[in-house]
Amino acid sequence: MQNVVIIGSGCAGNTAAVYTARAGLKPLVIKGHEAGGQLSITTEVENFPGFPEGILGPDLVENIKKQAERFGATYLDGAVIEADLSKRPFRLNVEGEWIETRVLIVASGAKARWLDLPSEQQLIGHGVSSCATCDGFFYRDKQIMVVGGGDSAMEEANFLTRFGRNVALVHRRDSFRASKIMLDRVKANPKIELVLNSAVEEVFDVEKHIVTGVRLKNLVTGESTIREVDGLFVAIGHIPNTQVFKGQLDLDPDGYIVSHGGARTNIHGVFHAGDVQDRVYRQAITAAGAGCMAAIETERLLEAEGH
Ligand code: NAP
Repeated sequence: MQNVVIIGSGCAGNTAAVYTARAGLKPLVIKGHEAGGQLSITTEVENFPGFPEGILGPDLVENIKKQAERFGATYLDGAVIEADLSKRPFRLNVEGEWIETRVLIVASGAKARWLDLPSEQQLIGHGVSSCATCDGFFYRDKQIMVVGGGDSAMEEANFLTRFGRNVALVHRRDSFRASKIMLDRVKANPKIELVLNSAVEEVFDVEKHIVTGVRLKNLVTGESTIREVDGLFVAIGHIPNTQVFKGQLDLDPDGYIVSHGGARTNIHGVFHAGDVQDRVYRQAITAAGAGCMAAIETERLLEAEGH
């Protein structure tokens, strides 16, 4: 029987682990499919307070993990495939092994959203990617395309100019969700071409099993064109990882956990932290803050119950 299990090892989960470990609760962190969360596939983080020169995302999340381990947190590989939150202790199936816990912190984050074109899906890992940091290296001197109009797309487009001969940034509108500073960097980068009011309709070439191009539709004129591309990076946002909690935790229509104040969910003893609940701020620092809140609520609850 665990005092507290934390699902997710991103910024939120690891910070919750630091606080609960330091409180002597010996937290168990279930790493999840994408250990380290979204920071593990990010490049430079320039806005996390305390790092005037910036820090690499994977280094930041690994540092928080080491800090938690120093105080007695343990980490388990694998993901939760089933959860029974109907009564306490809660029961979690981690790839076949059942674990019981008095308190649960859900910090399972969010995963990349895809265009959901059949050709895109078939070419993931063969020229279609959602992670520039992971795959940019393979496109040295190649023609790259990035889809999206948010900060992720700007960041990826800029980063990919280190490798690619050129980068086409395709966005479905002509105004951007991205912050001004990120957009300005893109506009100032001579290797990036903005392709606006456009959508990718099909990715070629499924038969050859590599990306050779895309068919783009201009959403204003309705005209379709074919364009040569060697690598397609999809950066159009995220989907919260809450499938195993459906029907138990209150979720909004997009699957994000609905907060019941502070870090509380609708279930007593289950707390939320980070992007799994936050569709607004979604920053490393807000995820860390949310992990801290969930940890403090955990400490108070367990103390009140005499554990
Ligand atoms: P986002 O802000 O939600 O932007 C998603 C973009 O993808 C939007 O431009 C959206 O278009 C487009 N999109 C969504 N579905 C699409 C579809 N089916 N086809 C084509 N385009 C589609 O997501 P994000 O860029 O991943 O950023 C998420 C959060 O992380 C934001 O708060 C962002 O500021 C933050 N972030 C910060 C940094 C940084 O500061 N270094 C880096 C990355 C992310 P519409 O605009 O038309 O809806």
